[in-house]
Amino acid sequence: MASKPRLYITQELRENLEFFLADDQAHYLCNVLRLSAKSLFLAFDGKNGEFECEILKCDKKQVAARVLRQSRAFEKGADIWLLFAPVKKDRTDFIIEKATELGASKIVPVITRRTISEKIRKERYIAQAVEAAEQCRRLEVPEIEEARSLETVLKNWDKNRTLYFMDESGKGKTPAEVFINEPEKNMPAAVLIGPEGGFDDQEFELLRKQSYVRAVSLGKRILRAETAVAAALSCWQAYCGDWRIGE
Ligand code: SAH
Repeated sequence: MASKPRLYITQELRENLEFFLADDQAHYLCNVLRLSAKSLFLAFDGKNGEFECEILKCDKKQVAARVLRQSRAFEKGADIWLLFAPVKKDRTDFIIEKATELGASKIVPVITRRTISEKIRKERYIAQAVEAAEQCRRLEVPEIEEARSLETVLKNWDKNRTLYFMDESGKGKTPAEVFINEPEKNMPAAVLIGPEGGFDDQEFELLRKQSYVRAVSLGKRILRAETAVAAALSCWQAYCGDWRIGE
């Protein structure tokens, strides 16, 4: 096998701990990958780093494992939140997956006036985030918040966190101008992407009058919401986050 399977475990891990795997993870290791006793896999718990583990026994009822040693020490990722307006099901899946790979520390579904009122599937979003974190070797799974209206989000905002909103109207500054030159470069940050229908006039007005909000333009082309999510997080990571040289 090219690389060891990697699983997110919801209990805290430490060397020599013996634990049982959740049913779906047990099924994946023993039935799908056909591993058995003594096979190795990697596990992370979001708090204590990553560990190499060994399967002790694989039977129909239970799969037991033991933590052998720590393979990577814990490191906290960049402090960048994603606020996004949910779109259609598979496109929202894509947003959660890419935001996880691109290092979002928290993901907040935001209901705007033109958000198509698809059901907010928090459990599904969590499952997508877990799978993406396992695959991309992150040591944490981004936290998924309950959906809230844009007004509520802004009313409760901590003003020490800069909110970069992706402004499709063309009135925003370029990512380089905003992310390199602004004094809040090293402050906690969030990026906000609107729904397929865009923000409405009242929302633009509400956003623009907040002291902590910066409007960012991602060029002349109108991007789909999921493309804008990937572009915004990539720009932030390159200028302010963990893609900077030496980090
Ligand atoms: N229907 C709208 C476009 C919405 S695109 C229109 O035709 O104007 C969905 C979201 O992606 C937008 O709300 C914005 O946050 C982001 N976005 C798309 N293209 C962008 C661009 N060129 N610059 C900044 N943000 C953009």
